[in-house]
Amino acid sequence: MKLFIPDIAYIDPKILKYKESKKTIEYLEKLKVPIVNSKKVVIDSGSPEENYATAKKTVLFTTNGQKKLVSCKPSADYQFSLSSSCPANCEYCYLQTTQGEKPFMKIFLNIEEILENIQTYIETNMPSITSFECASITDPIALEHLSGNLKECIEFFGRSEKGRLRLVTKFDDVDSFLTLKHNKHTKFRFTLNTPYVIDNFEHNTSSFKERIGAVKKIAAAGYPIGFIIAPIMIYDNWRVEYKELFETLKIALADYNDEVSFELIQHRFTKAAKELIVQRFKNTKLDLDEEKRLLKWGPYGKFKYVYKKPESEDMKKYISELINNNFELAIIEYFT
Ligand code: SF4
Repeated sequence: MKLFIPDIAYIDPKILKYKESKKTIEYLEKLKVPIVNSKKVVIDSGSPEENYATAKKTVLFTTNGQKKLVSCKPSADYQFSLSSSCPANCEYCYLQTTQGEKPFMKIFLNIEEILENIQTYIETNMPSITSFECASITDPIALEHLSGNLKECIEFFGRSEKGRLRLVTKFDDVDSFLTLKHNKHTKFRFTLNTPYVIDNFEHNTSSFKERIGAVKKIAAAGYPIGFIIAPIMIYDNWRVEYKELFETLKIALADYNDEVSFELIQHRFTKAAKELIVQRFKNTKLDLDEEKRLLKWGPYGKFKYVYKKPESEDMKKYISELINNNFELAIIEYFT
């Protein structure tokens, strides 16, 4: 798909002392992106929906001063960020409720400091391996061409004896990662779903076909590979379409002989998310009917609506069977 080009870029004066800033500013100028030299992002487009749309095209280049990393179980030991938010508009995105009314993107340019901090965590945990997730609050692939940070990060982990990196994306712009010295220390995961889910709810992401193309390239480049199948939804033709998904994936990975991991996440929503979703996506086809769902207490201190037991058990069984029938070396990490 076409690269994301922001409508406007804010430059926090703090970043000017980092060598990465010069390259980034020159690149933004080449792309003809208007630049504002300020760390204060002003978005006032009239209505909450317009503010949301404007924010999704606005980027602040700044620094990440977070020293204390938080846990990221079950995916990794810790999470850190090279950026936050993303240019996509997935209707069900769980970040809807955590990133406020104006979820503009931030890209952090103090990459050396971020990696130094990670190194202290790796050393403290020696001789064990320490794993890090860098895509919990962003899609790092979508924003990579604006900074080049992730490539530096992947090569850092490639050199690291005990550090491992995981990331996940819905984007296909992977060509610049294919020749990196990753040393199999970065696990590349793709979020996949049926064409129905992608086409109806994942606006401004790569299509199913584009993601499969990127999967093939990353597999051929020798990265460890995984998939997040999420959010799994029940709709008219769901069984047929999920079956086709795994059959297509099997063909795409015909030459890949390593283990492939799967994380399975059923569709869920909170009350607060539903309110925002219906405001931002007035004609949404998302099934947000609380009556059809089971209210469950979530680990982040919020009630969420998941599928009722018989449906979620059927879903888990069916999807697990599809995976095991198509992949000899499949590991299903969890279903939630
Ligand atoms: S790509 Fe991920 S982070 Fe971005 S809107 Fe979609 S679900 Fe949210």
